[in-house]
Amino acid sequence: MVRRREPEIASRRQEEDMDLTYSAKYEEFRKEVCAYLDEHWTADDRAKYGGPEAIFGTISKPDERITEFRIGAIEAGYLYRNVPKQWGGGEQPFDPLKSAIIREEFKSVHAPREMVGQGPSMLVFTLLEHGTDEQKEKFVRDTLLGRLLWCQGYSEPNAGSDLASLRTKAELDGDEWVVNGQKIWTSNAQEADWMFTLVRTEPDAPKHEGISYMLIEMNTPGLEARQMKQITGETDFNEVFLEDARVPKENLVGERGKGWIVSRSTLKHERALIGDTDINRRTLDGLVMMAQVIERNGQPVMKDPVFRNRLVELESRLLSAEYHAMRLLTMQARGQDAGIAGMVPKLNGTQLTYELAITAMDLMGDTGSLAPGEPSAPAMGMFVHAYLWSLGVLIAGGTANIQRNIIAERGLGMPRDPAQKR
Ligand SMILES: Cc1cc2nc3c(=O)[nH]c(=O)nc-3n(C[C@H](O)[C@H](O)[C@H](O)COP(=O)(O)OP(=O)(O)OC[C@H]3O[C@@H](n4cnc5c(N)ncnc54)[C@H](O)[C@@H]3O)c2cc1C
Repeated sequence: MVRRREPEIASRRQEEDMDLTYSAKYEEFRKEVCAYLDEHWTADDRAKYGGPEAIFGTISKPDERITEFRIGAIEAGYLYRNVPKQWGGGEQPFDPLKSAIIREEFKSVHAPREMVGQGPSMLVFTLLEHGTDEQKEKFVRDTLLGRLLWCQGYSEPNAGSDLASLRTKAELDGDEWVVNGQKIWTSNAQEADWMFTLVRTEPDAPKHEGISYMLIEMNTPGLEARQMKQITGETDFNEVFLEDARVPKENLVGERGKGWIVSRSTLKHERALIGDTDINRRTLDGLVMMAQVIERNGQPVMKDPVFRNRLVELESRLLSAEYHAMRLLTMQARGQDAGIAGMVPKLNGTQLTYELAITAMDLMGDTGSLAPGEPSAPAMGMFVHAYLWSLGVLIAGGTANIQRNIIAERGLGMPRDPAQKR
């Protein structure tokens, strides 16, 4: 796989010889980043924080050492480069190639990168676009540093794909909203401090126009989060019940009744989060290793031409996803809007995650269904977990069918889906 690459050049497909290296200017910048890391992220830090969380990112509250490092890296302009300094970001000129180098180098020494999760990856950008200065002051910095954790209360029992059908209502009583209703599939609500949510404030308006975007503190009396057990055995999901929960009037983001527009901003960032090629690359590498050791009919499965063929197909799809990601990066570097092409990674990436996991399950046979924690589970049960989880990522942030509808209608100009009343 090509590691050091220059996406600017990668997209010039007509050129016969593609130079996939970064230019001298960017290699100089890489040296600067490495020098910064050598000075500020010690060998002890690298050993202590080198676990799986460093790879996948974490949404839990970080410890003091991590926060201290992040504050320094923000001041040095390496993290949250697209967030103004005034609100706690690194505020640097837009340069996706520098951002890519920072990600690569921070990742290689397990240094804390930007926080992931509903708060830093989704809400912050929504607040920067639609929030008041008071809201930015109160929430952005602490959210970027992981001091405030958030959950997303969009879905309801009868409002998932058709989100605008949501029924949780908020009525104004003096200086407070009184909120009643129920949310579902609220990831991480059990550890969140706040929830950003959608509520119906104008019951008589057409369904997309009667919604407001609200911030609710999780310890508000009348709010109860109940954990739900998932097929993986974990309990990240919650139902959130709201019964006469009183919320300060000023906790709306954007105008009253205009929450649908605000919610689009959050969703755009959510979709961009899902479908990262790194995870699929790691799964495929693991799959190849397993195929070299697991034997069938007296020889490693890797020697079976039918299985090899499946692997080659997966590898080609992954390579095309990686090149598509580079193309998007090139467009960003040129200041071009990726448009509907930006929706492809989520749709493609989650489908590939699923197919990689299914192939791993086939490879392992019966023992493959042993869960993590079972002593004889192959690869510590990692693949069965990946398989069960892959079913969820196809749905989270908008199902694959809904993504297809959007790409077909807005991207290809096909007729609108008659089933969707919009
Ligand atoms: C891992 C995970 C994490 C999640 N985290 C959160 C969270 O933190 N906060 C939150 O608010 N929600 C969360 N969700 C919920 C998620 O947003 C919804 O599950 C999703 O939007 C689908 O809604 P639904 O489950 O009601 O399914 P439905 O909308 O009932 O869909 C059922 C099936 O019908 C299909 N379908 C529906 N409408 C159409 C159509 N018009 N055309 C074609 N097919 C259609 C769908 O593709 C799907 O296959 C999460 C879900 C998952 C799996």
